[in-house]
Amino acid sequence: ENLLDIKGLHAGVEGKEILKGLSLTVGKGEVHVILGPNGSGKSTLMNVIMGHPKYEVTAGSIAFEGEDITQLKTFERARKGLFLSFQTPEEIPGISVENMIRTAKQAVSGERVKLLPFRRKLKEMMEELKIKPEYADRYLNVGFSGGEKKRNEILQLLMLEPKLALLDETDSGLDVDAVQIVSEGVAKFHNEDNSCLIITHNTRILEKLTVDRVHVLMNGTIVEEGGAELIEEINRRGFTHILGESGEA
Ligand code: ADP
Ligand code: MG
Ligand code: MG
Repeated sequence: ENLLDIKGLHAGVEGKEILKGLSLTVGKGEVHVILGPNGSGKSTLMNVIMGHPKYEVTAGSIAFEGEDITQLKTFERARKGLFLSFQTPEEIPGISVENMIRTAKQAVSGERVKLLPFRRKLKEMMEELKIKPEYADRYLNVGFSGGEKKRNEILQLLMLEPKLALLDETDSGLDVDAVQIVSEGVAKFHNEDNSCLIITHNTRILEKLTVDRVHVLMNGTIVEEGGAELIEEINRRGFTHILGESGEA
């Protein structure tokens, strides 16, 4: 049984169809990468998998652990073990990093998260990520650098321990430090019991991971699939050759 099973998905926003019959499966313990040109629908796909209310599914289905989740709300999907990295742009004075992650953990688990064990684990994970202890008490995103926002994202991943991590790194223009944070953080997170679906243009993010499958998304549908070697091929030759000499998407 697949962890994630998307069949014939059509979805859009404000009456505009963006995903046009997309099918994709991710097995348990696997790392999948989605590649595709700008505007092909990658971020839309992530948001639709997570159930972002802005997007409407008009046909097809999304199953998670064999259960149809197409109609579930975002928080219900989060409780089932889905996680979408969000680079929360807002600064939230008054909410510390620790508070924010603990609140998210409680929302996802549906249980009260005891402070002391939570703190212990947070401290341990922060040490592993080489994050200074005082970071936990800083207000969320207030004056955060790009790298610090990335650290927060990875810390969430390690603390929330989702079954499926959806990571959309596409438009973030990561600097060298941020790339390393993401790369090491995702590698630390990933094990045989969870899966990752990663959108990235920066293949250095994948250096510490074994990529099981690559999907190429163009114009709202998967046009090519293959193993990790497809990344190298696309880096070398670009996207258009996939569609032949016409280059039409
Ligand atoms: P990608 O992440 O692959 O760059 P997106 O999923 O962000 O692609 O966008 C796919 C297409 O959908 C683009 O043509 C984009 O302009 C359009 N789109 C995305 N969000 C909206 C929106 N809120 N309203 C209208 N069009 C949108
Ligand atoms: Mg693996
Ligand atoms: Mg995008």
